[in-house]
Amino acid sequence: MSIVPTTDQSVREAYSRDASGLELVPEMVARPESAAEAVALIAEAISAGTPITTAGGQTSLTGASITDRGMLLSLRAMSKMVDLDVSARTVRVEPGGFVGDMKRAVAEHGLLFPPDVTSENEATIGGAIACNASGARSLRYGPTRRWVRSLTVALATGEVVELQRPRLEKNTAGYGPIHDPVDWFIGSEGTLGVVLEAVFDLLPLPEQVTGLGVPFATEADALRFVREARRHGVVHPRCLEYLDQFALDIVRQQEGGEAWRGSAFVYTEQEHQGDDDAHLDAWLELAEASNASVDDIVVFDSDAAIRGARDLRHAVPATTNERGSRFIAHGGRRVATDWAVPLDLLPQALISAREIAAKHDLPMPVTFGHAGNGHPHQDFVATDAPMLARVEAAVEETLHLVLGMGGTVAAEHGIGKLKKKWLPLQLSPMQLAAMSALKHTLDPAGLLAPGNVIS
Ligand SMILES: Cc1cc2nc3c(=O)[nH]c(=O)nc-3n(C[C@H](O)[C@H](O)[C@H](O)COP(=O)(O)OP(=O)(O)OC[C@H]3O[C@@H](n4cnc5c(N)ncnc54)[C@H](O)[C@@H]3O)c2cc1C
Repeated sequence: MSIVPTTDQSVREAYSRDASGLELVPEMVARPESAAEAVALIAEAISAGTPITTAGGQTSLTGASITDRGMLLSLRAMSKMVDLDVSARTVRVEPGGFVGDMKRAVAEHGLLFPPDVTSENEATIGGAIACNASGARSLRYGPTRRWVRSLTVALATGEVVELQRPRLEKNTAGYGPIHDPVDWFIGSEGTLGVVLEAVFDLLPLPEQVTGLGVPFATEADALRFVREARRHGVVHPRCLEYLDQFALDIVRQQEGGEAWRGSAFVYTEQEHQGDDDAHLDAWLELAEASNASVDDIVVFDSDAAIRGARDLRHAVPATTNERGSRFIAHGGRRVATDWAVPLDLLPQALISAREIAAKHDLPMPVTFGHAGNGHPHQDFVATDAPMLARVEAAVEETLHLVLGMGGTVAAEHGIGKLKKKWLPLQLSPMQLAAMSALKHTLDPAGLLAPGNVIS
């Protein structure tokens, strides 16, 4: 069975934007409702030499899900949960469902899908796989990659392959990077294949989780607290999220946000059994030793309270995103960094990054995010094209700095179209050539997600 892509102008425009602030209108849009329809569309596009850019929820911050070349393949209508095996703790899903919906569905059966991309109610499973999305709880559970057991992928050769992770304990057959092809597609941003189905490993839901919001007078104290919490023997945080004064300003504008005091703030969660709250004493001791404003610590001790805290945390990127979108018509937009450095170097990296912003005559960015992984976000709002150029120059200078610290230019949001120019700062010509060789092997005509990641 096959469906015909539409060239209707209003439909094409409806798929022309993601959260990057870019706009690219595709030549046609296809919205398959089943894997069979998707495969037929992909085969037809390949034989006609038509480029294919796959889209999920279009929350990409890097322009990865939009294109002005060929077909935009939206998989949002392929959103079924195909099978949940409660005893094996696995779930088989189509790519177009939202991550948050899948999490809630498996939770009803006492199971946890651990990765928690902040945008989980707007981002799809396929997008999370293609970007190797992570979130606050990646501190404990790692990114999406760790939870993928198998993938069904449509290749640019017209083949559909089902790839299982090897279950071997030993293997010396061939070069290391070719041992597990599942890994090739995770984080490939639609450039190597189209994910049609995935099987994830799940965990039992933790018995109890308590969230804590810990305010500080200074960033230095807050980040010391984060470092000590990572090294501590008794507290076991599953996330360590930082908010600076500008992020706190946004939180305090939300309902319930007034309780988040201080000039710097750390949000953390700990899993524990039943009413066992022995860890709370250890957290309090640690907070006191780090000069926290302990009288203003906020405790979130129910699922609903934790959801509320996470909504407040999510309000930060959602607000900067909305602020940035107001200036797109003037050539501005939000610029969200996702560089990361080794944890011990985070305080100095943030100080230097702000000095660089000031040198480029920019207002201080909103700084927040996954401090426990040495991974903050710095959100700038450029109000016009000249300011955007200054923001990009400041970010590039900061990336040189973080790379000098052993960091990365992109820890979470991928490369897409916007960060492609910064990839060679980090990867050697040898690494880039290896990426090109893999791309050429799987997509010799360069039809998949042209413009993403590599040229
Ligand atoms: C407010 C906000 C907060 C965010 N917070 C986080 C965060 O905490 N952590 C994080 O990692 N990211 C975050 N992001 C970025 C974004 O949400 C993630 O990258 C997300 O995984 C993208 O999913 P999506 O369905 O929107 O994908 P899209 O934006 O539609 O696509 C992203 C990429 O995936 C490819 N793709 C999509 N589906 C498939 C498929 N089935 N097969 C092959 N390729 C496919 C696309 O071609 C594109 O390259 C945030 C974004 C916003 C706007």
